[in-house]
Amino acid sequence: MKDKTNSRIRRSVRWAVPLALSVVALWGCGGDDDNTTQANALQACLQNAGTTTVAVGSGLPGDPAIPEPSSGYKPGKKPVTALSFMAVTANPLATQAGCNVLASGGSAVDAAVAVQAVLGLVEPQSSGLGGGAFMLHYNATTKQVQSYDGRETAPAAATENYLRHVSATDQTNPLPNLGNAFASTRASGRSIGTPGAVRMLELAHQDHGRQAWSGLFAPGVKLATDGFAISGRMAAAISGARNDLLRDPEAAAYFLNLDYTPKALGTLIKNPEYATTLNSIAQGGANAFYTGPIAQSIVNKIKVNTGGVNASTTVAITPGLTELSDLANYRAIRREPVCTTYRDTWVCGMGPPSSGGIAVAQSLGILENFNMASAENSPTLVNAEGGKPSVQGVHLVSESQRLAYADRNLYVADTDFVSLPGNGVSSMVDKTYLRGRAGLISLTRSMGTATAGVFPAARPAGVSAQEGNGTTHMSIVDKYGNVVVMTTTIESGMGSFHFTRGFLLNNQLTDFSFDPSDATGPIANRIQANKRPRSSMSPTLLFTRAADGSRGDFLMATGSPGGAAIIQFVVKTVVSAIDWKLDAQQATSMVNFGAGNSVTTGVGGEHPSIDVSNTGLNDPLLNGLRSLGHTVSFAAQSSGVSTIIKTQQNGRTVLVGGADPRREGIALGDALP
Ligand code: GLU
Repeated sequence: MKDKTNSRIRRSVRWAVPLALSVVALWGCGGDDDNTTQANALQACLQNAGTTTVAVGSGLPGDPAIPEPSSGYKPGKKPVTALSFMAVTANPLATQAGCNVLASGGSAVDAAVAVQAVLGLVEPQSSGLGGGAFMLHYNATTKQVQSYDGRETAPAAATENYLRHVSATDQTNPLPNLGNAFASTRASGRSIGTPGAVRMLELAHQDHGRQAWSGLFAPGVKLATDGFAISGRMAAAISGARNDLLRDPEAAAYFLNLDYTPKALGTLIKNPEYATTLNSIAQGGANAFYTGPIAQSIVNKIKVNTGGVNASTTVAITPGLTELSDLANYRAIRREPVCTTYRDTWVCGMGPPSSGGIAVAQSLGILENFNMASAENSPTLVNAEGGKPSVQGVHLVSESQRLAYADRNLYVADTDFVSLPGNGVSSMVDKTYLRGRAGLISLTRSMGTATAGVFPAARPAGVSAQEGNGTTHMSIVDKYGNVVVMTTTIESGMGSFHFTRGFLLNNQLTDFSFDPSDATGPIANRIQANKRPRSSMSPTLLFTRAADGSRGDFLMATGSPGGAAIIQFVVKTVVSAIDWKLDAQQATSMVNFGAGNSVTTGVGGEHPSIDVSNTGLNDPLLNGLRSLGHTVSFAAQSSGVSTIIKTQQNGRTVLVGGADPRREGIALGDALP
């Protein structure tokens, strides 16, 4: 088995060299709108391989694009330092595509477009054209922070029982019947929201693009045409979803071998249909996706009512009610970001329909009432992997999160349909309110579960459905100082398993509550026509706080996939960087810990500094938490944090990047002179 894998990897290396050279040639001559010389560009975007550097995709020793079996945590990742621009994504080929755009004078948004086009190919389980995204953009010239909402929408025909009943007369769950409501609805056409990522990228590019839209798809087209080697995580995703992919003949033809076994790690895979799709979008803009033949294919796929590749795999599938008009009417939205202070920084995040910005701001606003930098609250044994969090540190952070999730779960949904309590965001992140919430925390006992805060004119909202694991995050700084943080998703790994034109369709509508109401009344996050499901995605930007208290310079960019736990991953990374002064890689690598609003506190057991032997009874952190009344889970946590921090090194300003050791990503930027 091992030998087979290795020979596949060797085969992949043989094609990777010409590919890398052609990609280098492509971007080396693409930089014409700025002073970046080709020589400078060629110094950029190289992976440090010990004493030398190596091109990503070259197949040479040290090339991070050489597929490896996916592992829970790969220790030894080093921070990457750059002078003026940097891209961090969850896949080496995507990082390289983004970095090359930056090296040729492109803006952060230009790079994000190129990154998304490549991610949809090389990490199709996590994001793509068939999904949605949120982006925060910092404009270094105007100092403005703008957020972009590319969240999927429910179709106009969706009624309140769309996710849980086949019809008014057939009140059973949508098909295929996979044994539980979430799994069944997810794999039906009902889970598929109108995709938003492409329209959102176009809107952001209209606002902040420097290079022609049409050229930004070239790296994705090239990789789709020439092929790429299936990575460890993609291979694991295919193998885990094999039976689900078998319901869609197009998905089976792409992801599975002729005998329907899953395509394995290192297999060279080409996606000419995806290349054609990208070319159409490159030439015709987002309209080529939202109208015409691609839109028709999406609608047709959502409407399939049967699946399977042969008689023994044929099953009925409940179709969705999406029409061409849903796609044609889709709009990406510019929204106000949620910005608050945290100690001597400003933190900006994504507002509704994401709950991420409010929940991160609430958690940090509660923690501000404690000295997180004290010896008792700080990690010990600080090393390249972050270090060992302290019992009190984890206790305080997880209690702050219980309080934040209580509000999130009850109140936050798409504010175009349901208003937030009080005066909205400002009430929910108000410092006095959060000080009161902090007062509910005991230093010696976990509160277990928290109750949502009480606001004037509050309305009951109810809890939401579970959130899945098909998401990825990119952080990008361009040489003009502009910054993009973008979290992009198809919801669960492999989305709805519906595949057309070379990409997967999301199952984002399962982020709505399946039940329209509970004992207290209508649920805020219930499904309604054209509504956007509540998200946890938390693309986050930090800034210094100027002497007059106003928002100062860019300081940090971060974000992660991880469903509802995204909020915990981001808070951990921010506290690690701001309170514990860890660098971008250490803060990213740091043990994941935190809590939703339940008695369980999670401490990521995949991290080398957590001792999971003897059912976790040998680890003093886990024991300490138990003695404070926490129910402790040390299940592995699959974050995918991508972080960039602007800092001083040897008297000059540099960017330091860190990519999550739990995924496959890397940071790349321009070289220091
Ligand atoms: N669908 C989730 C959300 O929008 C994200 C899922 C994930 O991170 O995998 O919050």
